[in-house]
Amino acid sequence: MSETVYDIAVIGAGPAGAQAAISGSHQMRHVLVLDAGRISRREGRAYWSKTVQFEDVPVFKGITGPQFKKSLREWMDGRPVQDVVISGEDRKFGIDIQSAVLLKLSRGEDDVLLLDTSVDKLDRDGNVQSVETFRARRVIVAAGFEDRWPNIEVDESVERMFDQYRIVFRYAGNRRGWHTCIRCDGHLHVDERMAFYGVGDYIYEMVVGAQDFTDKLTILTDGRPHGMSKPVLDQAKAQGVEIDERKIVRHIGEKTDLLGFEMEDGEEVFFHGCFVDEGLDPNTRFLMGWDAKTDADGLLVVDEDNQVLDATGEPIPGLYAAGDIVAGERKLITAALAMGQNAGLSASDSLRAWRYPE
Ligand SMILES: Cc1cc2nc3c(=O)[nH]c(=O)nc-3n(C[C@H](O)[C@H](O)[C@H](O)COP(=O)(O)OP(=O)(O)OC[C@H]3O[C@@H](n4cnc5c(N)ncnc54)[C@H](O)[C@@H]3O)c2cc1C
Repeated sequence: MSETVYDIAVIGAGPAGAQAAISGSHQMRHVLVLDAGRISRREGRAYWSKTVQFEDVPVFKGITGPQFKKSLREWMDGRPVQDVVISGEDRKFGIDIQSAVLLKLSRGEDDVLLLDTSVDKLDRDGNVQSVETFRARRVIVAAGFEDRWPNIEVDESVERMFDQYRIVFRYAGNRRGWHTCIRCDGHLHVDERMAFYGVGDYIYEMVVGAQDFTDKLTILTDGRPHGMSKPVLDQAKAQGVEIDERKIVRHIGEKTDLLGFEMEDGEEVFFHGCFVDEGLDPNTRFLMGWDAKTDADGLLVVDEDNQVLDATGEPIPGLYAAGDIVAGERKLITAALAMGQNAGLSASDSLRAWRYPE
């Protein structure tokens, strides 16, 4: 176990985590950032925009996901840990970045939070090789979530997700590939043919968002019943949305461009943009046993200070969250940055020795 007790540990180095760390260190806190990206392929959602440039992110005028992630890292590297004397006390402030996957979060003595992490790559069988425990007085969860991907040409014979989905991932995050966010990538396909992979009223929510860009809309259920409720189905039909319930056999692509699909009956169908919304998996397995309040997707419910609430609606001492992992609508990069700043400042404020009188 590390000797150091950090003021704040931030889980995740995407926009929410990076901003939380910067804000914490700016308030003279000693911050630890855990970044799973360097030892796993879990780089965070921002990283997925491989050739698509973000066009709605402050400061940057067009930047891809990998470049953006690198810039966030450089931003944090610019605030290394330093010694300082404040009010006669020797302290440290700044940011330590550790490549690690948080496995378990628990509460230790004196309310110090214990972070059991895997600090090496997993072995060939997917097992953790070595566990290191870090300690912190506050934790900000900015671990985001994983999108669920289409079930087309998935290789079930291999264990790891990135190997199973290698054909899907060839096309993911490219200008003409699998998109996961209509608000982010709809503008790439103005007045073009868009496909939406998914079922139920859930996928129709994305289709509703697509009306800002085009009216050439097809839902692909990939062999499943469409599962839409009657009012939703009636509206979809009235709006001219096509529903194709055939099974998809394979992608039709050129290098990393996704052009369309071969269906079970041999017909080939072509689209300019393909969007998927099969739901998500929150990166919160390390919170098992914490009784945190979540929404239907498993995302964390927080208060105005970005402090995580428990099932009864009370703030959980020491635990904050920011970014995509927080429940609510319309959480993109700028929202992640804003939440990161709020969480970083709230966690810092909570460490003050004295406060304004009530
Ligand atoms: C294809 C695509 C295109 C997008 N386009 C846009 C766009 O144009 N504009 C826009 O504003 N938004 C866009 N978004 C959304 C945007 O990427 C997210 O809203 C944003 O990245 C959320 O930031 P975050 O910091 O909350 O999470 P993420 O960026 O997902 O970062 C999560 C971090 O947590 C780490 N992590 C996860 N689990 C653990 C663990 N157990 N231990 C340690 N670390 C962990 C990951 O390694 C990563 O560093 C897009 C998303 C996708 C997928």
